[in-house]
Amino acid sequence: MSRKYNFYAGPSTLPLEVLEIVQREFVDFEGQGVSMIETSHRSSMYDHVHNRAVELFKEIFAIPENYSILFLGGGATLQFSMVPLNFLGPDQTCDFTLSGSWAKKAYDDAKKVGKVRVIFDGAETNYSTLPKASSLETDPNAAYLHLTSNETIGGIQWKEWPHTGSVPLICDMSSDLLSRAVPVEKFALIYGGAQKNLGPAGVTVAILRDDMLERCPETLTAYLDYRTHAEKNSLYNTPPVFAIWIIQLVLERMKRLGGMKAMEEHNAAKAAEVYRAIDTSGGFYRCPVDKEVRSLMNLVFRLPSEDLEKRFISQATEEGFLGLKGHRSVGGCRASLYNAMPLEGARALGEFMNEFALKNG
Ligand SMILES: *Cc1c(COP(=O)(O)O)cnc(C)c1O
Repeated sequence: MSRKYNFYAGPSTLPLEVLEIVQREFVDFEGQGVSMIETSHRSSMYDHVHNRAVELFKEIFAIPENYSILFLGGGATLQFSMVPLNFLGPDQTCDFTLSGSWAKKAYDDAKKVGKVRVIFDGAETNYSTLPKASSLETDPNAAYLHLTSNETIGGIQWKEWPHTGSVPLICDMSSDLLSRAVPVEKFALIYGGAQKNLGPAGVTVAILRDDMLERCPETLTAYLDYRTHAEKNSLYNTPPVFAIWIIQLVLERMKRLGGMKAMEEHNAAKAAEVYRAIDTSGGFYRCPVDKEVRSLMNLVFRLPSEDLEKRFISQATEEGFLGLKGHRSVGGCRASLYNAMPLEGARALGEFMNEFALKNG
């Protein structure tokens, strides 16, 4: 078997060793005569996996005691609804930053629930830059400030966090959660779908500060109310057990490899390989994003023409580099270098890019 280098933006590459453990243990989990996905979510066999995943998450991401970790369904997209339904009261306004397509989606849903004020809109610069986090002016009475830490489509990433005082800071980290250390104590809620950086599709992780639960209104139906999940340790209804098991295995591996710090260094080294190929190509490749805020997870670039982009993508695919086509809404190329992408993959892509530029430049 030869595995290809997988640069898809999500669902995306997972560590080979984790896939192999799942393959080995899939039919008969640790010799217990039953598969993890055939056992009750109330069984001790599953219970161990579930609680271990929570514990590892807390440890690796340095999550303070006063936070709950929730495993939810519905993707990050359901969080676009749950956040305003729980935290945007009828007479309140929330503040939003519009950094790209994903922020815009979260904003569109929040607007249906209540009042939203935009404090940064990247449309004016075609989403190529971000302001200094310290220059964001949050209304002290805002229900919360919403950020999107990394724009998966636009390839732009916040590198620092605003000081919001007593205003809760809420962040969609779908595409860079666990890629770098984050001061979790600055956030009231961090959420993200697993399929970009943590595991397979089917589970969304929410890291929620406990005092936020006091804000949830009584009118919400059970699933939409964060309290339901926090009170029941994400076992109110059947959680996506298969996806959570894989997250547990991904986290075990991360811990073995040195946790957040090791991951952060690994990701910076990989991104440097590909950005170097872009920046030393004499203008053949162009990254539309300002250098200081380029994403280390989703690296977007253009070639001199759409025709060359097509050829680049098709030759890359033939050579075993998958998923380099940019999102259909923006075109161009995109290489997603999530945690599980090995350094050799990024290096091999950089070399391929150099050669392609030499031949076609
Ligand atoms: C993928 C993505 C989403 C949507 O996630 P789903 O799991 O498909 O709902 C939201 N925000 C960001 C930043 C994403 O990358």
